[in-house]
Amino acid sequence: MEYIAPHIRQLDTLLAGKSHISASFLIEGDEPALVEAGAQSSARTVIDALQAIGIGPEDLRWVIVTHVHLDHAGAAGDLLAAFPKAKVVVHEVGARHLVDPTRLVDSASRVYGPLLDTVYGRMTPSDRDRVVPAADGMEIAVGPGHKVRIIHSPGHAKHHLAVLDLPTGTLLVGDAVGVLIPEVGILRPATPPPDFNLEQSIRSLGIFRSLNPTDVVLTHYGPVPDPMETLLAAEGLLVQWVDVAKMELQQNPDATVQELAHVFEVAFRDVYKEIAPEDLSMFELLNGLESNAAGISRYLTLQQDAHVGGR
Ligand SMILES: [Zn+2]
Repeated sequence: MEYIAPHIRQLDTLLAGKSHISASFLIEGDEPALVEAGAQSSARTVIDALQAIGIGPEDLRWVIVTHVHLDHAGAAGDLLAAFPKAKVVVHEVGARHLVDPTRLVDSASRVYGPLLDTVYGRMTPSDRDRVVPAADGMEIAVGPGHKVRIIHSPGHAKHHLAVLDLPTGTLLVGDAVGVLIPEVGILRPATPPPDFNLEQSIRSLGIFRSLNPTDVVLTHYGPVPDPMETLLAAEGLLVQWVDVAKMELQQNPDATVQELAHVFEVAFRDVYKEIAPEDLSMFELLNGLESNAAGISRYLTLQQDAHVGGR
């Protein structure tokens, strides 16, 4: 588990048996916090990795999830079972899903299909009294004089939050900035259904910039090379992807998600042409063109409905 900042370690959850696609982060202190539970399929890997560096069953105090998608929060219930003194911190809007994951798992099974069980796993419910709903700006002490701050950052999901480590200025951003797999080296926006919202995403990226973070760290995967540049690039990419979809849907209002995904593939072919097919397929697994197409198409439809309804 390598250090990415003083007292912050990055843990590879080996999602789908692959390295460098999905991470959790340990913020060390007297009351250590794990940011991102990971998928249920990774629970064993995470527990073993923590134990290997001396975090025993009685030691972990916090599990903070950036949002309740299964690759981030799927293992929350299993981690609470393995670490009886820990509580799970989640955006107040997402908290109920950890207590009763039925609807979450149902909708994930529609999005992931067979990958749900082969790659992600499901979710063990968390005890209500061990779930801490986080308001924006809430601070959590991980040690004397060492706090982390919860930053609400909707857009990728309406219940998305980021975690700012106050002593170092390291900002753990979940999926709010996108996905950048080191082997691929290209930032891609993550715009899944049902919540993706362009305006909210742009606002959240602005909040991140205003924090002037020392480092911006993606769950998929790790610290980005240049924080400010990446935050700006993320905004530009979101606008670009939404514009491509908007143009297509103007010409072909009944385009299916698959057709829209193909439009993205063609539009961005040059961007990905140097990438090895194996690396590209990992990218697709995490953050597929169809998922982005479905999220953007839903966002544009809702926006249009709101506009028509407003007249
Ligand atoms: Zn997500």
